[in-house]
Amino acid sequence: MSSKDTAGAVVIGGGAVGTAVACYLAMDGVDVTLVEHGEFAWGSSRRCDGHVVTYDTPPGAYSQFCKYGQDMFHAAEKFLPVDFEFSPEGLGLLVDDERDLDAVCANYEGKKNEGVDVTLWDRDDLRHHEPNIGDSILACLNFNGDCKLNPMRLCQGLAMHAEANGATLMTRTSVTGLRTDKGRITTVETDKGLIHTDNVILAAGVWTPLLADMVGLSVPVRPRQGHVLVTERVRNLVGKNYAEYGYLLAKGGKTRSDATPEMEHFGVAFVLEPSHAGTILLGSSRRYVGMNIRPDPTVMRIIAQRARHFYPALADTRVIRCYAGLRPCTPDAKPIISPTPLQGLFVATGHEGNGIGLSLITGKLISEMVRGQAPFMDISYMALDRFGTSSVTHSAGTTTA
Ligand SMILES: Cc1cc2nc3c(=O)[nH]c(=O)nc-3n(C[C@H](O)[C@H](O)[C@H](O)COP(=O)(O)OP(=O)(O)OC[C@H]3O[C@@H](n4cnc5c(N)ncnc54)[C@H](O)[C@@H]3O)c2cc1C
Repeated sequence: MSSKDTAGAVVIGGGAVGTAVACYLAMDGVDVTLVEHGEFAWGSSRRCDGHVVTYDTPPGAYSQFCKYGQDMFHAAEKFLPVDFEFSPEGLGLLVDDERDLDAVCANYEGKKNEGVDVTLWDRDDLRHHEPNIGDSILACLNFNGDCKLNPMRLCQGLAMHAEANGATLMTRTSVTGLRTDKGRITTVETDKGLIHTDNVILAAGVWTPLLADMVGLSVPVRPRQGHVLVTERVRNLVGKNYAEYGYLLAKGGKTRSDATPEMEHFGVAFVLEPSHAGTILLGSSRRYVGMNIRPDPTVMRIIAQRARHFYPALADTRVIRCYAGLRPCTPDAKPIISPTPLQGLFVATGHEGNGIGLSLITGKLISEMVRGQAPFMDISYMALDRFGTSSVTHSAGTTTA
């Protein structure tokens, strides 16, 4: 770990979002210091899947934003110094309820008209590609450009590339306060000393509201818990990444026609990601239970049952570990990538279940904002003031530890 008591910009948080912000700032010539309480990917970014997707957004501006964010990984694969196991192998949405078929076809047409590479498999096509699929699964809507990666390796690669471009990396360092003077940010207090700076980027995921509160700023982000089960290594069971069609509804907090009361209660919807190591990641759940990341055996059981419904052969496969993580969730489920009423203070959080996939585009946009450039695409709908909560309530000059 290195340290410096001045910086052009200080990024707080070393998850996927913070490391990406630091990486793009450093590549764009800003003297940046990245401060992380633990090690890189210490928070939500090591407790998630690694999907980089477009399947879960309806056609429109936000869908195009996600697509641009996804495309950036193809370039990053060439310049990052770490193999982050990037695989653009596609993701399929599995349909097990006849009542969803009309909506699936409409989704297929809408995405196709937007230029997304989608294909629709009927029952026979699906069995041809996935011989181990459950008998009751009817169809699959494939997003052929969707990708996966290893989030921890991504964070490591982004941090290393930032450092190679001049960034100072401070791990095992906690931010304990923020100082302002005459309506602008001046200083970051850490448990290792002060850093004087003109720019601070709050990229601390679910902890961002605590940091924002140090200067009296309200950032409406709530932790939304999710579970992931990891199986032993298996060969030739499954071809690529899948989710159930109802995952879209569960994510949007909507009721599903074929979900059991338990599935609804814990927000369980099937998602599967084969890893490069040969294990399979199975998820997931969605619940608001504060900062609790203790895995719940009931949720684990429901996820395992749901996985067996889609892949009966998983019944013979052992689960070797389980973890729970927290998605940083905003009221409208879109990120906050934004300046604030305090000059030099920016917010980059609230990506819910897409923080890995949207990390690079967030880094690029924040770098533009810090350098005083107009964002390369319209992201006014991601501004903090859309919640009407961005007023600074503490008096200027306040330091809050
Ligand atoms: C079960 C589950 C599955 C998911 N699957 C996917 C997926 O497939 N694809 C996807 O894109 N997203 C997925 N997500 C969402 C993804 O995990 C998050 O959106 C993303 O990790 C958020 O990254 P972040 O950098 O904003 O936050 P974090 O990774 O939480 O990073 C914030 C960092 O800030 C640090 N910090 C906090 N306070 C301080 C302080 N005072 N001083 C210094 N440092 C501090 C923390 O230690 C932490 O490392 C999933 C989430 C869950 C829970």
